[in-house]
Amino acid sequence: MVDQIAPDLERFAVRPGPGVAALSAVLEDPANSLLGLDFDGTLSPIIDRPENAVIHPEGARALDRLSRRLGTVAIITGRPARAAVELGGLAQLAGAERMVVLGQYGAERWDGASGEFTIPPPPEGIAQVREAVTALVDEVGIPGVTIENKFRAIGIHWRTAADPQRATAALIERARAIAAEHDFGVEPGRSVLEIRPPGKDKGMALAELIAERGVRAQIFGGDDLGDLPAYDEVVRQRALGIPGLLIASASPEQNALLERADVVCHGPAEVATWLHLLADELDRRAA
Ligand SMILES: [Mg+2]
Repeated sequence: MVDQIAPDLERFAVRPGPGVAALSAVLEDPANSLLGLDFDGTLSPIIDRPENAVIHPEGARALDRLSRRLGTVAIITGRPARAAVELGGLAQLAGAERMVVLGQYGAERWDGASGEFTIPPPPEGIAQVREAVTALVDEVGIPGVTIENKFRAIGIHWRTAADPQRATAALIERARAIAAEHDFGVEPGRSVLEIRPPGKDKGMALAELIAERGVRAQIFGGDDLGDLPAYDEVVRQRALGIPGLLIASASPEQNALLERADVVCHGPAEVATWLHLLADELDRRAA
């Protein structure tokens, strides 16, 4: 049957290139395929206060469908694993046992199969970093700049700042200096800068999961600079014979992923629509 081999690429809006073969490979062997997704900005709309973020309801529904079909569905996020599981309602999904959350760029993990979290102790020096960041934010004194305590990392958010431009100018260089002084790294994002321990990124997290699960084809979607190492890993895996499709969740704030993506969606609502298309096609083939 011809339509089993060739999905309707126009509907999936896949750019000509390696993403085409990857989509076919996922559809032909879902049990050995991985779907990896970032959380904020990809599944969950970006909002003023990150603690109030929720997964897009259609995104949750699509994940629910896909977790029944695909061998592995992974959320790979800068969020603590616990926060992603709770905000995404992931433990309640039908295929939760096939879900994995790699939190804090892979330093933390939740396994849907066991329901267990693996959370290492906070890194040395994090208390001093938090103190220094608090002092910096107090000193700069721009209303609306907030500090997020992620226990392994400290986020400085200026989405709600009274003067975002002044906030970035006043904060970024000095936050970098604090990070350097304590041998931490920085992760810039959409109206946020995170100071976090070096040594892990989303690319490494993805590589480990691919090896562990014996993945043969994959899809990865993200929206921000922290997703670029995962993009690089997908490209590296292609060269090793594991086809991969890259989704970008586009926003006016960040365009670094767009040129490299095989599929460009405009924010979490469109990502959810695309994931439903994938689920539709997998359901059709399983019927
Ligand atoms: Mg994101």
